[in-house]
Amino acid sequence: VFDFKAKAIHIYDSLSLYCIISDEDMNLLRNVFRSSGGLDGWTVVYPPQWKQQDSVNCGVLVCSAVENVVKQRESMTEALTVNQCRTLRLHHATQMLENVNPEDFPPTKQEMLAIKQKEVKLQGTEIKDTDSSIHCLSWRIRTCLFQRATGKNSVFHEHIKKYKWVQCTACKSWLHFECAGVTGDWASKDFFCGCSIHVDVKKIMEGVHADDILTDSEIKDLERNLQTGHILSNRMYLWKHKGFDPSLRKRYSEHVTVFDDMTTETIIQRLERVLSLSGTTSVDPHFITDVILPEALIQWLQTTNVICRFQAEDLLMKTKPFIDNE
Ligand SMILES: [Zn+2]
Ligand SMILES: [Zn+2]
Ligand SMILES: [Zn+2]
Repeated sequence: VFDFKAKAIHIYDSLSLYCIISDEDMNLLRNVFRSSGGLDGWTVVYPPQWKQQDSVNCGVLVCSAVENVVKQRESMTEALTVNQCRTLRLHHATQMLENVNPEDFPPTKQEMLAIKQKEVKLQGTEIKDTDSSIHCLSWRIRTCLFQRATGKNSVFHEHIKKYKWVQCTACKSWLHFECAGVTGDWASKDFFCGCSIHVDVKKIMEGVHADDILTDSEIKDLERNLQTGHILSNRMYLWKHKGFDPSLRKRYSEHVTVFDDMTTETIIQRLERVLSLSGTTSVDPHFITDVILPEALIQWLQTTNVICRFQAEDLLMKTKPFIDNE
């Protein structure tokens, strides 16, 4: 724990394996904090704390140590018994579940199986219906804006009743206008879904800075358009209807960036800064990572590379899962 007021590092290790910081590690930390004083004049303390006597309750001890620090509770050096750990585990679990909506709980294994079976059945009948969203190219990567929720009859953006379709000149695949990200008249124009356009993601990412991803006003417009529904987004829909498709929500949340973790963090910081300046209420950091970040990148990918929305989504969905450090 870094206490910037007292200029002290407090070490917590319930197993008492690491009670000091080696010179080598200290140099590393000084380097990390070089722009904020380099930990000059700091001390390292190993305060009195609860000890662990087993090898399974690490998590319980970590949560307890954090809670004691945050709530400024003085604790004594004492070894916790199995019973004490059990009580603490229940306490932390209760705290964590307190503000969770019942519908936000992940489905059980049995529920998942039932959903899968229903999904297979529904797809069987849909394949024969020519206006079904199952024929949208975006369906294959689960980003179609009018697809059904997994294993349910209800569709995303149910208020849109009439679908317009555009066909790829090269591969003859079909996409909804919104899934392709096109408007206007395409009946006599060539449309390319991306099957014939190779995009080198690595090359696009080279030398890109957080400030290059849209302008401040474009970011504000994007947020407003997502809120009003002027721009359709499944991520936004799932943000508003969290229990609508939990498995898809999880999948989307793992594919929110085409950049490495470091660049992604700086982009997130920029989005937070821009949006908190425009609004009166503070922005939920998860709203940024789950909705604004991927949608901003999709818009940026579309405009800088002249590719359709489907191809931008495809690039995003192919990335390795991003771990939100928060
Ligand atoms: Zn452990
Ligand atoms: Zn579609
Ligand atoms: Zn195509």
